[in-house]
Amino acid sequence: MQSMRVKGVILWLTGLSGAGKTTIARGIECELKARNCLVEVLDGDEIRSHISKELGFSKEDREINIRRIGFVANLLSRNGIVAIVAAISPYRAIRDEIRMNTENFIEVYVDAPLEVCEARDVKGLYAKARSDKIKNFTGIQDPYEAPINPEIICHTTKESIEECINKVIAELEQLDYIPKRTGTRLSNHDEKNTMMLALDSV
Ligand code: ADP
Repeated sequence: MQSMRVKGVILWLTGLSGAGKTTIARGIECELKARNCLVEVLDGDEIRSHISKELGFSKEDREINIRRIGFVANLLSRNGIVAIVAAISPYRAIRDEIRMNTENFIEVYVDAPLEVCEARDVKGLYAKARSDKIKNFTGIQDPYEAPINPEIICHTTKESIEECINKVIAELEQLDYIPKRTGTRLSNHDEKNTMMLALDSV
């Protein structure tokens, strides 16, 4: 059994709905658990159905929501946990604010063009946004501000799920947040863990 590391980090996955944040986050989680690392995923959907239940999708509410996620992720990361955030987090300034308040912060831009996300429409939300059943949907009526200088970019239209996951794992190893693993790296991550939740509109 590997010795437990105490250097935590926030791994902040940002991108449009359907870009691949949850899929990549769960894949990383799976790999880290296999290495006995302490890891927690803060998924935008789950946060919205729990600690941010009362919030809507105005700019103000989105900012509050993201600050809450940042606060919790900070608590986790400073206690040696790899806190993986998978949330649209559309506003650059709030992400940067959280970065400023965090000792170890890695921003991962999960990048896929709007047309691709819309074609994937994993949760049927783009269709609803287009037919005005959902208002303020990021990428349709609301803005998404892409990171200017993220530590990692996952191009989910050009790179496979495994390539994206492995890229992030390699960076975590490189920065010594997780122990290096010799031998075969993840090639077939647990599809069950990529199960989609009902709503993703942080
Ligand atoms: P998000 O959490 O960003 O809303 P999801 O992870 O829920 O996005 O959905 C992304 C969809 O795109 C999934 O159906 C996933 O299988 C697919 N996909 C295709 N290629 C990739 C990739 N390289 N990385 C992540 N997801 C991908």
